[in-house]
Amino acid sequence: MLFKRPGVGDPLPVDSVTAHVIDPVTEALTDLHRRLGALRDGEVADYIPQLALADPDDFGLALVSMAGRRYQAGQADTAFTIQSVSKPFVYALALTDLGAQEVLRYVGAEPSGESFNAISLKPGTGRPANPMINAGAIATSALVRAAGPGERFERILACLSAFAGRSLDVDEDVYASEAATGDRNRALAYLMRAAGSLEADVDEATDVYFRQCSVRVTAADLAVMAATLANGGLNPVTGRQVVTEPTATRTLSVMATCGMYEGAGEWLMNVGLPAKGGVAGGLIAASPARFGVGVYSPPLNSAGNPVRAVAAMTEMSERFGLHLMHRAALPHVATVTAAERWERDGRSVGFVSAQGTLEFTETEALLNAIREATPPAPGRVVLDLTAVTGISSGPAVMLAAVLADLHGQGHRVAVAAQQALLQAGEGRPRTWEAFTTREDALAWCEDRSQGA
Ligand code: GLN
Repeated sequence: MLFKRPGVGDPLPVDSVTAHVIDPVTEALTDLHRRLGALRDGEVADYIPQLALADPDDFGLALVSMAGRRYQAGQADTAFTIQSVSKPFVYALALTDLGAQEVLRYVGAEPSGESFNAISLKPGTGRPANPMINAGAIATSALVRAAGPGERFERILACLSAFAGRSLDVDEDVYASEAATGDRNRALAYLMRAAGSLEADVDEATDVYFRQCSVRVTAADLAVMAATLANGGLNPVTGRQVVTEPTATRTLSVMATCGMYEGAGEWLMNVGLPAKGGVAGGLIAASPARFGVGVYSPPLNSAGNPVRAVAAMTEMSERFGLHLMHRAALPHVATVTAAERWERDGRSVGFVSAQGTLEFTETEALLNAIREATPPAPGRVVLDLTAVTGISSGPAVMLAAVLADLHGQGHRVAVAAQQALLQAGEGRPRTWEAFTTREDALAWCEDRSQGA
């Protein structure tokens, strides 16, 4: 016999159970890695000596889902420096410390259409165009609250680590190389300081920024970091809320319009996802509420973004239909399962039932069904939401407004729903009777009819 059959009671090795199950996500990453690894375009950054040492053949891809599951292909565990991919995360930290309005006083949120180290300061105020280019990133990093530069960098490192879900460290050689050759960044900082948009000391501010750029990560780390932004600031691997949801949303917005430097417009058109690239070859892309991707591949295109990462994300976006402007699939199952009206004992009853999760589109369909089923003269409206599993807060407000309106018009309204859904509405003035089963709601209708 070729294979030894495990005896009764032998624990089955886990690998033998899972090894042959097809995993389409890993297959997609492996396929991209195999085909795009052959791309020879682009140049490894050499503006600082340490970066020029990178191997142009290194190529790793990783993806983390909202459930915290990890997938990867190629050199996803090879370490490199984060460089400009740090910018959105430090922006999120500054937003957390100061609030969006205050941060906007120092750093704009407009695409510059220029390269990463362009001057891009607004005439008059000296305010940098956005936090994704160097000038804006230096100003942003200086906004992080701290007693001094040492503490400021510690807070930045702790923030990047929380996004990655593990303790990150600094590549001291890259840092030294960066600091030794960083005159253009110092020049940007001097210009901002002269114009009043940078209050910190130039050497201190740029030193923190150089350290921030020299933090070591892997493609697998970047995927967790991107997934945390895609997941409303909640790290799907560690379960820690790293930043608030509005902060994650703002950060992704600035990434979408400014993340890819002078390639940002074309990127948004072709790929349609918020992203950020760095000169060492790292790139993140976030598909909101779906997943985060991290890519590592050192050769860069003329806009300073990693060539293979751009190609990989373009393909992935097409293959999985990820473009943000792509019309989302309409629900396969109808939300509204019944909408009818009947007369009993001289009273009109409108009845509507629905199922599933109520987001905007589903709620809009439900509200339309309620309008159609509502009796023309004051009567009864029964809403059976017992098969509804969730409702977002905006749609819940829309539904509450319609129920209040029905009440105002003299209708008596009964809602049957799961306990959790009924509790979600607590604290608001109730203009309807609550039940947990459709039968109870309908019985209430009839009782009233009899009593009338
Ligand atoms: N450390 C680099 C710089 O400031 C980061 C730039 C980048 O990754 N595009 O020049």
